Amino acid sequence: MSRAYEQLRFKKAITRDGVEVGLMLNAGLLVDLPQLDQAGADGIGLFRTEFQFMVSDFMPRLQQQTDLYRKAIMAAGDRPVTFRTLDLGGDKILPYMDPVPEENPAIGWRAIRIGLDRPGLMRYQLRALVAAGAGQHLRVMFPMVTTVQEMVDARALFDLEIERAKKLGHELPAKVEVGVMLETPSLAWQINQVCEVADFVSVGANDLMQFFFAADRDNARVADRYDPLSPAALSILSFIANQCRANNTPVSVCGEIAGRPLEAACLVALGFHTLSMPVTGIGPVKSAMMALDVAALRAVILPNIKVTTRLSSLREMVREFCLDT
Ligand code: PEP
Ligand code: MG
Repeated sequence: MSRAYEQLRFKKAITRDGVEVGLMLNAGLLVDLPQLDQAGADGIGLFRTEFQFMVSDFMPRLQQQTDLYRKAIMAAGDRPVTFRTLDLGGDKILPYMDPVPEENPAIGWRAIRIGLDRPGLMRYQLRALVAAGAGQHLRVMFPMVTTVQEMVDARALFDLEIERAKKLGHELPAKVEVGVMLETPSLAWQINQVCEVADFVSVGANDLMQFFFAADRDNARVADRYDPLSPAALSILSFIANQCRANNTPVSVCGEIAGRPLEAACLVALGFHTLSMPVTGIGPVKSAMMALDVAALRAVILPNIKVTTRLSSLREMVREFCLDT
């Protein structure tokens, strides 16, 4: 980390007009945990639990899963850690599971779809999470949810594991929050119902943009053809932020755009006050936040994301705003 960013480590990300922005870390393995303090992150906003499965030669046992989750919670201290349940399939293949050939793996049998079809696997992981959260604050979220019913069903599996732990006399988490990742456009159009069944919403912007623009994020030929600072993308993000606020449901953004200063500034201007990002993003985004006038940027963006606009991207406009202020 550069010296300039290192000096920001103990400072909060507060904008010039007083908006405090939570800057969280994306993590997944033990080696990521020291980065929490090194970068001065406010917690772990996305713990990608499938990484442990991907680097292992066999399915991690219950105790191994529990140990990793517990270490993450302990490393964070009083800062929150949000565990994302297994997001397998798509680009994430396990060496010890038979691959299922699919024409379109990104929109195939993956993530929560596997979890709900194989409830034994999902409950095993939820059991480990409940055990790791004993006496602590436990936050769990489900990936690639496309319908409200999927969230209801996934949450019911989580509740079964809480009941099981209770019956066995195990110590329960002191506080539990169960959230949803908003990664598919369909979920945005059910956001009010989603907010009724989720304690928080985390926008998985990598997948949301991939599906929104129908552009494979892993295909270099198409991945950069769209701009997340286009009026269309900013409109759906603004809609999500507004609806969550109206429902009093905490909302954050994870995914790569949260870790890029210009994009992060726009997200905050749209109303997202918690961003989760790779460790390399924390210093630059914190620095950008401290220079930002949120209300002024909001006044620049909002008129330009109306459906009547002809601009294909607000990037230059936002860049100029950030350079001028
Ligand atoms: C996302 O889709 O934005 C996300 C954070 O999840 P992943 O990149 O692991 O799919
Ligand atoms: Mg995703």
